[in-house]
Amino acid sequence: MQLQLQTWAAVEACVKRSQGIIIPIGSTEQHGPNGLIGTDAICAEVIAKGVGEATDALVAPTIAVGMAQHHLGFAGSMTLRPSTLIAVLQDTIASLAKHGFRRFFFINGHGGNIATVTAAFSEIYAAASLAPSGNNPDIKCRLKNWWNTAGVYKLSKELYGDQEGSHATPSEVSLTWFAHPEAAMPMTLDPPVAPKGGFTDADDYRRNFPDGRIGSNPGLASTAAGKRFYDVAVSEIAAEYKEWVASS
Ligand SMILES: [Zn+2]
Repeated sequence: MQLQLQTWAAVEACVKRSQGIIIPIGSTEQHGPNGLIGTDAICAEVIAKGVGEATDALVAPTIAVGMAQHHLGFAGSMTLRPSTLIAVLQDTIASLAKHGFRRFFFINGHGGNIATVTAAFSEIYAAASLAPSGNNPDIKCRLKNWWNTAGVYKLSKELYGDQEGSHATPSEVSLTWFAHPEAAMPMTLDPPVAPKGGFTDADDYRRNFPDGRIGSNPGLASTAAGKRFYDVAVSEIAAEYKEWVASS
């Protein structure tokens, strides 16, 4: 159930039934020659909607711009500074907490968000711990990277082996094509597998990885594989969400 497609009265009824809510968070950044700028937001959103349907949970609007300064050497990429993203997360959680939500389950599509989202959780817990009333109301947050489940890992190994890489991966590109089949761009890449390595800022990234990929071959992506990633990720993350909300 998408929050945006409910009325306020429906949300009021919903939060009486469950205090959990799912929040997709992604990024708006280059994803190589045939990957969409919105890849990380699209992946997080499609999985979150699937998990919301499977668990009868509300899904908040996607936070579609994340921490992606290192991608700014490529047209279309956008970033929030870490401090801005922390503020966005604080206000998002505070708004929803005001209505009674207490368990915030973030489904993340972008590795570059992890440090900042984790820092935002620490800010939220620190504010709660320092308040005279303690963590009251009792707020808990969890970050789940959609690609970080046993089934997704196994499937990406089986389909792509070492050509999965770490940015503009065939797994994520496949998942976006499943979500938006009209945007599929099958092509043979040169070189097929992108270079690997590290980077610091946006200029350094572009120098080291001229077409935007890192270690990946998204020439192997397909809409059919995207459906398989969707099915396995939704089923595993739905189970994790239900267990977490029930036990936390
Ligand atoms: Zn990505």
